[in-house]
Amino acid sequence: MHIRTKIVATVGPACATPAVLEQMVRAGVDVFRINFSHGQEATRASALEAIRRVERRLGEPLAVMADLCGPKIRVGPIVGGSVLLGQGAELTIRRRPVQGSARAISTTLPELVDNVEPGQTLLLDDGKIRLRALEVRRPDEIICRVTAGGVLASGKGVNLPQTELRLPALTEKDRRDVDWIARNDFDLVALSFVQRAEDLAELRALLPEDMRIVAKIEKPQALARIESILAATDALMVARGDLGVEMPLPQVPLEQKRLVELCRSAGKACIVATQMLESMIDRPGPTRAEAADIANAVLDGADALMLSAETAVGKNPVEAVKTMNDIAAAAEDYELTWRGPARVSYAPSPTTSALAAAVRAVIEQESIAAVAVFTATGTTAAVLAQHRLAQPILAMSPSQRVVRQMNLLFGVQPVRQATPQHTRQVIAAAAKHLKAKGLVRRGQKIVVLSGRPIGQPGTTNTLVVHRVG
Ligand code: PEP
Repeated sequence: MHIRTKIVATVGPACATPAVLEQMVRAGVDVFRINFSHGQEATRASALEAIRRVERRLGEPLAVMADLCGPKIRVGPIVGGSVLLGQGAELTIRRRPVQGSARAISTTLPELVDNVEPGQTLLLDDGKIRLRALEVRRPDEIICRVTAGGVLASGKGVNLPQTELRLPALTEKDRRDVDWIARNDFDLVALSFVQRAEDLAELRALLPEDMRIVAKIEKPQALARIESILAATDALMVARGDLGVEMPLPQVPLEQKRLVELCRSAGKACIVATQMLESMIDRPGPTRAEAADIANAVLDGADALMLSAETAVGKNPVEAVKTMNDIAAAAEDYELTWRGPARVSYAPSPTTSALAAAVRAVIEQESIAAVAVFTATGTTAAVLAQHRLAQPILAMSPSQRVVRQMNLLFGVQPVRQATPQHTRQVIAAAAKHLKAKGLVRRGQKIVVLSGRPIGQPGTTNTLVVHRVG
């Protein structure tokens, strides 16, 4: 069953064969995420190749999102793999790499010593262990007090909720990864730990022009600058994992609602991520709370929902996708009964916003079977998607990459279509694709949006109501 909510699934050892990936697509996956925090280049290359093989076999576009680590800080090596840090003990974080012990550790970020101030909190292993900086002896070390103890293992994450990191948005590893991504067949690039709009500009400068960027919101510093970040990105991810460590957890569901709403009014896609079906990593079915979480994310207005460990390392990757698909389908039906008019204003083009609103107004007056749009960059489809129409949105583009990228958009069914010369050819192409997909019958009406000149980015200015002949 084709639902309107899009599903992003993380690829990992549990699902990286073409056979499992194909089952996942049949169960509802639209976008695959390759996480650059784990694995080697060879594993990523073979996952990408497997996805493209499935795409060719099924004849359906599949988007692939590369997820860059960004300045994610990790604990360095620890003698014996782990160590017990006792509550109240002193722990030194050194700039130079050391073999970690109960007295001193190092991290993957030597510059940590330059950024932390006395009194600030450092969280290790998703906040399970907490440190307070007592003294910073630049440039060599930070003396900390363990305020919540526990067993610390090598490689665990370090979060600094109170520290503005004066660091480049992209590490040396990210730059090498971006270079590889730009030479391979990816469609979307997500950046972790975005702090400001400039971070996204830095990434964009290194990518091909038609690559789309997803800003992962997982730091309070990003929330404080969300308007400018939203203006600089193509889509947003509510990365609830790190966000829930970096800020008080009770605030995270509320920030989710705020971020989804901001994306909708800006005409940009929003992905809600992390722990949506966490229990299904080991178990065959979801908890009631997980079912409610998925349904609520749909009702909030998310374009896409993401599975992480559930599909990457879980025991039931296909079942997790099916479960997410079924819960989202039920929520979509319910949403249509109560959602009021959208207020989408795509700032770079008021005409696009106005025409998308006009599509909605036509649908409220007349019986319309489907909406079609011809879009060079996918922007008009993204703005239209935020209206969360009951009708399918057929989005035609000549670019294969744009077609794949539109797989992230709520309710959008993308197809490849060469650029027509005249509006009547756009309408004919729309009717042909919609009929082939079984979405319209002869005699039904459709609404078609296109630009003039056709296929020129940013020119959407034509709305036609057409009876399919
Ligand atoms: C998150 O922190 O919620 C997230 C999606 O990022 P990652 O999976 O890369 O940790």
